[in-house]
Amino acid sequence: MKRVILIRYGEIGLKGLNKGFFIDTLIRNIKSSMRSINNKKLEKIQGRFLLQVEEEDLEFAIHRLLQIFGIASISVATVIDKDLEAIKEASAVLVEEKIQQGQTTFKVQARRGDKSFPMTSPELNGELGGYLLKRFDALSVDVHQPQFQIYVEIREKAYVYTDILPGKNGLPVGTGGKAALLVSGGIDSPVAGYMIASRGVEVMGVHFHSYPYTSDRAKEKVIKLMEKVAVYAGKITLFVVPFTEIQLAIGEFCDEKYSTLIMRRYMMKIATRIGKQNGASALITGESIGQVASQTLESLMVTNAATDLPVFRPVIGMDKHAIIRIAEEIDTFETSILPYEDCCTIFVPKHPQTKPKMEHVLKQESYMEGIEEMMERAIAESERLEVYPT
Ligand code: ATP
Ligand code: MG
Repeated sequence: MKRVILIRYGEIGLKGLNKGFFIDTLIRNIKSSMRSINNKKLEKIQGRFLLQVEEEDLEFAIHRLLQIFGIASISVATVIDKDLEAIKEASAVLVEEKIQQGQTTFKVQARRGDKSFPMTSPELNGELGGYLLKRFDALSVDVHQPQFQIYVEIREKAYVYTDILPGKNGLPVGTGGKAALLVSGGIDSPVAGYMIASRGVEVMGVHFHSYPYTSDRAKEKVIKLMEKVAVYAGKITLFVVPFTEIQLAIGEFCDEKYSTLIMRRYMMKIATRIGKQNGASALITGESIGQVASQTLESLMVTNAATDLPVFRPVIGMDKHAIIRIAEEIDTFETSILPYEDCCTIFVPKHPQTKPKMEHVLKQESYMEGIEEMMERAIAESERLEVYPT
C-alpha cells in the first residue's frame, strides 16, 4: 500500500487574487526545502497538496514540512482506490499499529468529498467502525475522547490516516515583501527575524562587525545563527558591514554617555541604505522595552528617528524568558549564548544615558567629521554572503 503526505495549508491570506500567489509560493518553498530528496512528487489537489517520497525519505520530509510557514498541518496517509474493502484493509493496518502502542479506544471520521461514492460519511463511519470492532477484540469505541481516530477522506482516491501533525502556520515566506534584520550575535534578533518571516516576509540580514575588536568567531556565530533562521525563512542574504572606523569615530567625537545610542543610530542609517538598495521596505530589530539603557522608550524614539523605514520590533513587549523559549524552539539559543564579543559590548559606556534628548544627539553627531564618507565606505566594503539552511 502506498503512503503519501497530505499537506493542508492555512486559510489566512487565501482571499481573492492572493490565493494563487500564496499557493505557488508555498509550493516553491516546499520544493526548495526538499531539494536534497531525489525521488519526489508534489501534486496539488482540491485544497491540499500531496507529497510522495521514497519510504526512507519520509521522516526527513515530515521534519522539513513542519518547519515551513503557511502549512497548517500534515498527515501521513495510505492511498487506496475508493473501494470499501480496500479502505477496511488499510484501516486495519493502522489500527494494529495503534493497538501495539497501547491505544485501544477509537472512532472513525469519514469525509466524503466525492459525492459519487455510494456511502454517505455517517454510513461509512458505521460500516468501518463495526468492521474494525469485530476484527480487533482489544478495540472499543469512544466518540468523545478516543485515544486515536481513523480518518477517511474520499476524494479522487481514498486516503486513510490516524494522525494530524500541526504545522507552523503563518504565511509562506515570499508573499509579504522583504525586510532587513539588524542581526547581532545575541538571543533577541534571530528570534525577531524568525517572527517576521512567519508573516511571509523575506528576511535579509545586516550585521555590524568591528574587527579586530570583535573576532572572526563572532562573525561565524552570526552566520550560524542565520543558517538556523534560514531553516524557516529560506535562504538569507547577509551583509557583514565593517563598523570599526565609525565606532572609533564615535568614541573620539561623542560624549561617552551617548555612544551606544549614537552607534545604534548609525546602524539604523546604514541598514536603511543597504536595505533599500536590496529591495527591503522595513527594518527588523530585536529590541525589547527596558532590556538595556538603549531600549528605554526615550532611547527607542531617538534610534527610530534615524530611519524613514518602518521598524518592526516583534519582541518589543516580550519578557526575556518568553524570547528564550522561542530561541530554544528554533534552536538558536545555544549558539546565541556562545561568549564571543559583540561590537555593542566592547565600547559600552559606564553610565549610559537612559533619557536622551534628541537635540543633544544631533549635536554630538554634528561633530562627527567625515561621517558621510565613513558610512559610504562601510557600505562599499561590506561583505555579501548567501546563507542557506543547515
Ligand atoms: P540581541 O540579543 O538581539 O543582541 P540585545 O538585547 O543584546 O539584542 P542590543 O545589543 O541593545 O540588544 O541591540 C539591540 C538590537 O540592535 C539588536 O536586537 C539588533 O537588532 C541590533 N544590533 C545590535 N548589535 C548589532 C550588530 N552588531 N549588528 C547588527 N545589529 C545589531
Ligand atoms: Mg546584542
